[in-house]
Amino acid sequence: MTDFRARIAATYDADSFRREGHRLVDTLADYLARVEHGEGMPVLPWAAPAVNVDRFAASFPEQPTGDFAELMARVLSGSNHLHHPRYVGHQVSAPVPLAALCDAVSSLLNNGMAVYEMGPVSTAMERNVLRWMAARLALPESSDGVLTSGGSLGNLTALLAARQAKAGYDAWNGGAHAGPPLTVLVPRTAHYSLARATRVMGWGEGGVTALDVDANFRLRPEALEEGLAAATRAGRKVIAVVASAGSTATGAFDPLEPVADFCQRHDLWFHVDGAHGAAAVLSPTYRHQVRGIERADSVVWDAHKGLLMPALVTAVLFRDGARSFEAFAQEASYLFHGEDERPWSDVGMRTLECTKEMMALKLYTCLCVLGTRLFADAVTESYDLARRFAAKLTASGDFEVAVPPDCNIVCFRHTPAHVPAPEWDALQSRLRERLVTRGDFYLVQTKLPSGTHLRVTLINPLTRDEDLDALMDALRTAARR
Ligand SMILES: *Cc1c(COP(=O)(O)O)cnc(C)c1O
Repeated sequence: MTDFRARIAATYDADSFRREGHRLVDTLADYLARVEHGEGMPVLPWAAPAVNVDRFAASFPEQPTGDFAELMARVLSGSNHLHHPRYVGHQVSAPVPLAALCDAVSSLLNNGMAVYEMGPVSTAMERNVLRWMAARLALPESSDGVLTSGGSLGNLTALLAARQAKAGYDAWNGGAHAGPPLTVLVPRTAHYSLARATRVMGWGEGGVTALDVDANFRLRPEALEEGLAAATRAGRKVIAVVASAGSTATGAFDPLEPVADFCQRHDLWFHVDGAHGAAAVLSPTYRHQVRGIERADSVVWDAHKGLLMPALVTAVLFRDGARSFEAFAQEASYLFHGEDERPWSDVGMRTLECTKEMMALKLYTCLCVLGTRLFADAVTESYDLARRFAAKLTASGDFEVAVPPDCNIVCFRHTPAHVPAPEWDALQSRLRERLVTRGDFYLVQTKLPSGTHLRVTLINPLTRDEDLDALMDALRTAARR
C-alpha cells in the first residue's frame, strides 16, 4: 500500500506534469511547423494496417517505463497529417492549434456536465455557443439546442424529437409498433447516418423514403410530392423531410425553401442536415446557399467540419427549444429534477450521452480569443478555392468536374487522351492509390452515377492554389506511368 501511495504521488505530481507538458508542447509546435510547411514530408506515412499494428506493442509493462516522449514521437510520425497543405481528403478539419490546448484543459478538468454541478463553466459556454449559432442561422428566440458527439448522433437526436412531435402516438413509451409505421423523406444523396437513425428507431428498411435528385445532385422539389405519395402507398406515415446542406459525396446543397414550404403544407418536421455546410451562414458570399435554413425545425451543424475544430463538436438546434427535451423523453430521477421543471442546465436530459466531454470549451474559447471573422473568412476562402480549382480543371482539357461545386468539395476525374474512356474508372482508383501511398497528397474517391471520381475537400485553410496545381501535375505524371 505504501508503494501504491508513492506511485500515486508520482503519477499525479504537478511538477512532472509541468515538465512533460512543456516538452510536449515544444514537440507539438515543432511538428506543426514542419507539417504546415509540408515540403518533403508525406501527408500520410502509408503503411498497411497489419504493419502498423506491429509497430505498437500489444502488451503493457507492469511497472512504469517513462516512455511518454518516445511514444508520442511515434504517434506524430505515423499519423495522417491534417495540417499538411496537401491534405485534401475527408471532411475533417485541420484544427486551430488553440483548440488542442483547450482539449488538454478539458481532459484535465473532466467536467462531465450531464448535470449542471458537474460542468458549471462548460454548461454556460454550451448555452452561449448554441445561442450564437442559432442567431447565425436566424432561428427565432425560442430556439435552443445541445452539443453532442457528431453529426450522426445529431441526426438521430433530431429525428427522435421529430418522432415525438409528429408520429401522433407515443413511440418512446409504446414502441415503434404502437401506431402506424413511420418514414422520413430523405434525398438519395443524404448521409448514411439518417438511414441508420431510422433503423435504430426500429422502422426497418422503409424508414427512409428516398427522393430523387437533379443533375447537380440537389433534391428535386417535385420529388417531395412523389415521395409522399409513394410512402403513403407503402402504408407509411411520413413525419419529416430531411434536406442536406450540403450532401457528403459532392457537397451539393438541397434547395431549402421548397422543402420548408412542403413541410408547412403537410404539417411535417423539417430537418436540415448541415453537418458539413451549415457554416455557410457565416459567409456573406455563400449564405444564400442555405436560404430557408431559418425555417427548419431542427438543424445539425458540425463545428469539427465547418468551424476548424477538432472532433467532436456537433450542435443540434431546435426552432422550438422545448422540443429538445423530447428526443430522450425518459426520466432518470436520480439525476434530474422533476419533469415539469425541465432545467435547461442539466444538458444530459437532452443528449444520448450521460457523461460528455466539455465540448463547448474549445469552440467558445476560440470564438472569444480568435474572433468570429476568422471562421467566416475560412468558409468564404475555402468555397472560393474550390470554385477556382473546378474552373481550372474544366479549362484543362484532360480533367472533368462531376458538378460545379456548391461548397469546398470537388469531385473530378482525369481523362487523358492516351487512356481509353472505358478504363477511366479504374484509372481514378489507381491514381488515388499511387498518390496516397507515396504520401504526395491525401485525397479520396467516390462513385457517382457517371463513374468513379476523385474527391477533394478543401477544408484545410493551409491549402493554396499552388498545391492544387501540383495535384493536377502529379495526377498527369502518375497516369503516364
Ligand atoms: C459528416 C456528415 C455527417 C456525419 O457527421 P459525423 O460528425 O461524422 O458523425 C452527417 N451528415 C453529413 C451531411 C455529413 O457530411
